[in-house]
Amino acid sequence: MSWLKKSKEGLKTTHRKRELPDGLWTKCEECGEILYQKELERNLWTCTKCSYHFRISARTYVQILLDEGSFQEHFSEVVSTDPLKFRDTKRYSDRLRRAREETGLSEAILMGEGTIEGRPLVIGVMDFSFLGGSFASAAGERMARGILLAIDRRWPLVIISSSGGARMFEGILSLMQMAKANALLSRLSDAGVPYISIMTHPTTGGVTASFASVGDVILAEPKALIGFAGPRVIKQTINQELPESSGRRWGGCSSSSRPRPSSHNGRAAGRARPWRGSARWAARSPRRRLRRP
Ligand SMILES: [Zn+2]
Repeated sequence: MSWLKKSKEGLKTTHRKRELPDGLWTKCEECGEILYQKELERNLWTCTKCSYHFRISARTYVQILLDEGSFQEHFSEVVSTDPLKFRDTKRYSDRLRRAREETGLSEAILMGEGTIEGRPLVIGVMDFSFLGGSFASAAGERMARGILLAIDRRWPLVIISSSGGARMFEGILSLMQMAKANALLSRLSDAGVPYISIMTHPTTGGVTASFASVGDVILAEPKALIGFAGPRVIKQTINQELPESSGRRWGGCSSSSRPRPSSHNGRAAGRARPWRGSARWAARSPRRRLRRP
């Protein structure tokens, strides 16, 4: 008989398995390190071991990025209705109500103004926890008004993306928001006002294909999933397993190919730079730069 074989069935430990108390510790999704919640918060929700950037809410991003108390929300009165009376397994109107209750936001983008080190700007932050950060008519309208505000005041525009793409519950009305945002962004460009796009995990679908990719400066958080179709859709389409790292890249910094008016040729000169895979570029992530030592 083997020594390793259990001689008696049904032996039980007298100690109960210890579970991590809720809200005190968090496991890093990337490296599995158990992190003390307070420490994680102090580190701006990035892993102390592997620098994984946790997904954070729009309001947390605003707190991290802007001067304390400087944020003023705008256009919160613009909300999605249910123009198509859409229903699949649930009513769209019920999904909206639930998302509002759970997130405390009225749409997937929080738009407003604030200051960074005393310099004013217009900022829009998408929140993935609101119906997957999906972009629909109200989000598009908020962004449009935000861009017009930036043009009017001549303040830089910062958009932080976190989205699965266009919200299909509103069909074509969602899809046209991409074109609307881009048309207004070219007006912003003509006015010579800078636009900084920050992509966080995940930035996919129509959001990547439109406004997130046309910043004068584009930053991405390390290892953010950035692409057009998500891994699940690609897998279903090609019917093959995908490599572990597909679609995920180290965030980078890139000057975009958004055409600038001739008076601004010196700045963004239309040289599209490929994504860089090095830590030097990843270090440009806003949360990394702001992190206290
Ligand atoms: Zn980690």
